[in-house]
Amino acid sequence: MTENFSAEARLVHAGTERTASQPATPPLIPASIYVSEGTPRPSRAYGRDGNPGWEALEEALGGLEDAQAVVFASGQAASMALMLTVAAGRERIVLPSDGYYGGRVLADKLRPHGARPVHVDLQDLAAVAGELKAARSVLWAETPTNPLLRVADLAGLAAAAAAAGAPMVVDNTAATGLLQRPLDWGATASLYSLTKAISGHSDVFGGAVVSRDTELLTGLRAWRSSGGAILGPFEAWLALRGLKTLPLRIARQSGSALAVARYLAGHRRVRAVHYPGVEPSTLALASRQMPDGFGPLLSFEVHGSDVDGAAAADRVVGNSRLILPATSFGGVESTWERRARWPAETAPAGLIRLSVGVEPAADLITDIGQALNTLEVP
Ligand code: PLP
Repeated sequence: MTENFSAEARLVHAGTERTASQPATPPLIPASIYVSEGTPRPSRAYGRDGNPGWEALEEALGGLEDAQAVVFASGQAASMALMLTVAAGRERIVLPSDGYYGGRVLADKLRPHGARPVHVDLQDLAAVAGELKAARSVLWAETPTNPLLRVADLAGLAAAAAAAGAPMVVDNTAATGLLQRPLDWGATASLYSLTKAISGHSDVFGGAVVSRDTELLTGLRAWRSSGGAILGPFEAWLALRGLKTLPLRIARQSGSALAVARYLAGHRRVRAVHYPGVEPSTLALASRQMPDGFGPLLSFEVHGSDVDGAAAADRVVGNSRLILPATSFGGVESTWERRARWPAETAPAGLIRLSVGVEPAADLITDIGQALNTLEVP
């Protein structure tokens, strides 16, 4: 009924009922079994194969890219099912060397099941094309990358993948399907952690794959049923509730993140800022791929008296009064952390990753300013 309206309008109405006396919004149904006789109906028999909690959420997520969605227990559960499906019978998974470290760790763990991870700089299209052609491959792209926010050319990557006969996956968690639509640029599938901006309130784990490839979608549903990494009904309910306000939140967060990035870029205690909106070398590309904003995530490095800036970064993070010292991103509350405190992270030791929430940008700038002022003048 809402097909003719915008993606934003459809998100708000995902799962709403227009039937008299029925709840207007989707109820939480914590059932694991459904009354059924004879041949079971997959979506209403045993909750691991399908349940009403997923339906409105999958419809809303799929609608963002004119495709279908399959939801999972977490972003990593979605990545695992997707890697196992797309990498079957292939020799390599070509991943960004500076992308989310969990993707690299997972690809490494799946090595015994076939494909071998190969790390490459996604901005070097010739290198990507070379790696993809060297053997039967999957391209596991990410743009902007977490945590360096580097932007890769989706059309160029898709062309390289097509020339090598490789499916292209894009981890679109940082941008969300509202700001960037990888399937329109030639990706076979978009990967999302729902734990971040999509649910948006730092209270739920979830993941999803969005695709227009029916064979791939069938394979993913089969992995979800057999592997059992399903999204719980409560988590699905929370994620859908959050998703309805994604357009409002992401617009506010993108605007504030740009303001904060510009402020940081002019600060004498900051030596580098990483955000698509302030990176001249990829600004035109980023504006084409993400015309409505660059998202809530940015990172920066401070001048420090210690060699790698790690102690100075810890000092800044430890001195905020509003921004929470915590990992993850995309929530309504701003958070930051020194990213290299995670052992598998390859980011520079002093890099601070900041997720800009929905607080007024002026408050965030005040908080960042007073935290930076605790550093010695360079
Ligand atoms: N993709 C990206 C870019 C992420 O940052 C994360 C988590 O931080 C994931 C995937 C994994 O998601 P989850 O933590 O929901 O498993």
